[in-house]
This record gives sequence, C-alpha cells and structure tokens, in this order.
Amino acid sequence: MALTTAATLTALQPVSPTCNIIVITDPTGKDPNGAAAGSMSFAPNMFESTFLVSKKLHVAVLAGGLGKGTARLKVILNTIRFLELGAPITVAIAGGLMEGPTNRILVGGPGKGMAVGGSYDVSVVLVKGNKIVIREYHSAQGFNIVKVPPNVKGAIIHLRNTPGNPKFGTATHVRVAAAIMVGQMIRDGYPATDIVAKAMGFIAKESGEKYGGGMVNITAGLTTGDTFTPAKLGQKGFPMDAPYRKVCPRCGWSAPYWMAKNINRCPRCGAPLKTEYAWQVARDMITVSKTHPVVHVYGIKSPYDKTAIVEAAQVLAEHHKLNRENLASVIDSEISSNTLLDYDYIYPSDIKINKKANIVTVYMKPLPEGYRKPPLKIPIPNYYLHVLGLICSALGIGLIVMGICRELLLRRLRKLTKGRW
Ligand SMILES: [Zn+2]
Repeated sequence: MALTTAATLTALQPVSPTCNIIVITDPTGKDPNGAAAGSMSFAPNMFESTFLVSKKLHVAVLAGGLGKGTARLKVILNTIRFLELGAPITVAIAGGLMEGPTNRILVGGPGKGMAVGGSYDVSVVLVKGNKIVIREYHSAQGFNIVKVPPNVKGAIIHLRNTPGNPKFGTATHVRVAAAIMVGQMIRDGYPATDIVAKAMGFIAKESGEKYGGGMVNITAGLTTGDTFTPAKLGQKGFPMDAPYRKVCPRCGWSAPYWMAKNINRCPRCGAPLKTEYAWQVARDMITVSKTHPVVHVYGIKSPYDKTAIVEAAQVLAEHHKLNRENLASVIDSEISSNTLLDYDYIYPSDIKINKKANIVTVYMKPLPEGYRKPPLKIPIPNYYLHVLGLICSALGIGLIVMGICRELLLRRLRKLTKGRW
C-alpha cells in the first residue's frame, strides 16, 4: 500500500464504502474467475476502497463503517497483518477490529470462505446444488462475526444508504433483491467476476450507492485499480451504472462516452458502435479469458487511455494478430489520430508479450510538461504545431480526441492561414 494512501486517508471525512460484495463460485480456486469482490458508495473519496491483499494469499479485504480515515486504515492494515501470519479470516477480522470496532471488515477468498465483522447490514447467500439460502444479519455491539465456511459457494452483500442520497431508504429492499439475483446466478453457473459486476450495476442503479470504488478478481489477482475512483480529494468516483465508453466491436476503436455520445458509427471502420456501462468495463477488466490477454499498461495519463490500449490488444488477440509490431502500430495510429493524446510514439521494444501466461505489458511514453502533442505525421512546419496546439486547447479537448475532427480542423486552419503552409 502506498504511503500516499495513508496521507490521503488522514485528511478525509469519515465517509466510507456503503456497498461491499464478495462472491465465491469456485471455492477450490481452480476457476480463475471463481472469486471476486467490489466496493462503492454514494459518498466521495472512494480511494482504494477495495483491497486485494496479495496474489499469494488470494484474499480480498473490504472495509467500511463509521471509523475515520486513519482509524480505518489501521483496521485494514492490522487485518492484513494477521492474514499474512496465516490466521483464519475470522481471527484476522477480530484482530483488525481491535483497532476500531465501529468499522466494518469483509474478508474472503477461495479456500478461505468469507466473513464480515464490525458494523454491518448483510445478506448472506449460500448455494448448494439447486438450493439457494438467503439470510439477513445485522451487527449489534461487539465484533459479531458472520462466517461462510471455505467449501461453500455463496456471497456476502453489505448495503446501506448514505445520508443525502436521493434514494435513501432503498438499501434493505435492494440488498435482498441483489442477494436473490446473485443466488440465482451462482446456481446457474455464472463465474464470480460476472456476478459481482452485474450486482454492482444493479445496486448502483437501484440504491444510488453508485460511485466507484472498484472491483477485484481475487483468484487471478486482477483489479480495476483507479479506473473508477475519484481523481481528486472531495470528489465522487465514476457512477458504476453510467455509460462509460463507446467501442467498435469490429476494430476495437473506443472513446469515452461523453465524447462519443452523438457518434453511432466507428470513425475508423464504419461499424455500429456499442455503448458499454462502467460495470461492464469493470467486468472485462477483472475477467480472465482464454482469448483475451491480461494487459498491463504503464505511463498512462488517464484511465480512458488504458481501456483503449487494453481493447486494442484484445481485438488483435481475437484475430490472432497480436504481436509487438502490430500492437505498437495500432497504438501509434491512435496517437497520430489524437485518440490517445499527449504521448510520444512507442516502439515494439516498449511492449512485452508473455505468450505462455497470456500477459501483455505496454510502456507508454507521456510527453513532458509543456509539450501538448507529438509531431503529427503531416507536412507542416514545427512552428504551426505550436499554433495548432493552442487552437486545439481552445476548441476543447473533446473535439480533438475524436480523430475524425482533426481533418476538419486542419482544413479550417489552412483556410485561416491561407497558403502560408
Ligand atoms: Zn471500427
């Protein structure tokens, strides 16, 4: 855990995730998508609200409750310390809560079961064969830990409403409805990653406790990272039930929804675009698939850029064309067309592909402060690049990122500067 997290949490008001979910569909840990977790809230400052402890331990620690930032961080760190020492999850929760019993800790992972302690209102879902059992538990005084044993398929869903949420008062009803949905999906054989994502989308929409937060794949150790968390202190994260981006199913082109809202066909290949909601994007980020490689991207400036690069790699993989040269050329073409803004061109050597583990790593090169764009691949003198940069900012970044608008802009610029270049 980074030091910045501790520093950030110190400054925060006592707000916290009001929705914590863990789902386990494969307690043996063999299915890479068999255990997943997620957190979100109506409140702001959902930084690092879901903690994936380690790929070695295969366990997620989710926190919430009434404690202030620093107290909650202590509770989380203490719980993790117990887990690393090999303590059973109930012991780790009790140990963690000694630092602050008004907090909530929800812990779970394949082979370890699930348990919650502290301050909570949960639906516990147990599935045995075709039988679904749902029970409600509400915390009283003390640690009162509720536990689901290690070899059982099931889920624990905590949900409360944040004061000020226009949908205040819906939590109990929505939690039970989500529990029924989750129980049915477990019974019907869906993987945990699918179920957590679907439940997050549903709960976000129905209860208003919708701002990320994020999700993790506990078995495979994948996370949505800071994709849906707020960018600054005092802000809310991304609403998990809102449209996040538009994507071309044919060539993999994608753009943030707010930019591409009025565009229905792919500017690169003409295919109809598909709208993806945040919970669907999160699901894809934490799902391990045979064809889809796991893509790590370093050096990016915005989470949107990451999803664009991940999508490019996955589409190439689907068409059996994934290699370093092809991926570098797709990324460079996105830089040329201004779909990816403010990066320098990359080389095949900036990409590592591990075929056996199906992992792709891309090292992007952000431009230094003050440099707006890489040299465009068009025949204009450098001086005008500066002018173009200024006009680009004036027109609004949204216009520019849509590569299709660039031609229009250049034509207008040429008119303005009449034959000077
Ligand atoms: Zn396309």
